[in-house]
Amino acid sequence: MEDLKRAIRDVRNFPKPGIIFRDVTPVLLDPELFGQAVKQMADPYRGARITRVVAIESRGFLFGAPIALDLGAGLVPIRKPGKLPAATERVEYELEYGTDALEMHHDAVQPGDRVLIVDDVLATGGTANAAAQLVGATGGAVVGFSFLIELDFLKGRQRLQGRRIEALLHYA
Ligand code: AMP
Repeated sequence: MEDLKRAIRDVRNFPKPGIIFRDVTPVLLDPELFGQAVKQMADPYRGARITRVVAIESRGFLFGAPIALDLGAGLVPIRKPGKLPAATERVEYELEYGTDALEMHHDAVQPGDRVLIVDDVLATGGTANAAAQLVGATGGAVVGFSFLIELDFLKGRQRLQGRRIEALLHYA
């Protein structure tokens, strides 16, 4: 776990002044570390009968795809508006300034599906909460979330209240 944390690159003032961006790309460069991260992100949900892993654009795809294979579940991308070709569910959510939206193929999750939502970083929880709303709109059950990193001080966990949240690395 210490190796993993050491590999995360802190980029100050990106994408805006005052933000420390936690860059996960060095983890991807090291197959040993990347493999461990994927396995440990999947571990809490072994035996949870996950049928769909929903991965959030874009860095969520990098972890969601191998986790889906590991858990023997289908992979579902959630994307920014206008990127998915077939019929979609859409949800709008609040940002610090204004709103944003996410979309998921309407037929990708069915009632009865047991869903794990994956992203690289849990910050304020707005994005993850929107992903859970999309899954809910299709009748799927959100079993939990798996993140590589949780920024504890932003209290995203509170926004996802009552849901199971797993994160490998924490920043206070
Ligand atoms: P939020 O909706 O505030 O929880 O933001 C989560 C999304 O923004 C995730 O998809 C992250 O990839 C990205 N994100 C937010 N803050 C950071 C950060 N400090 N470093 C890297 N990615 C971040």
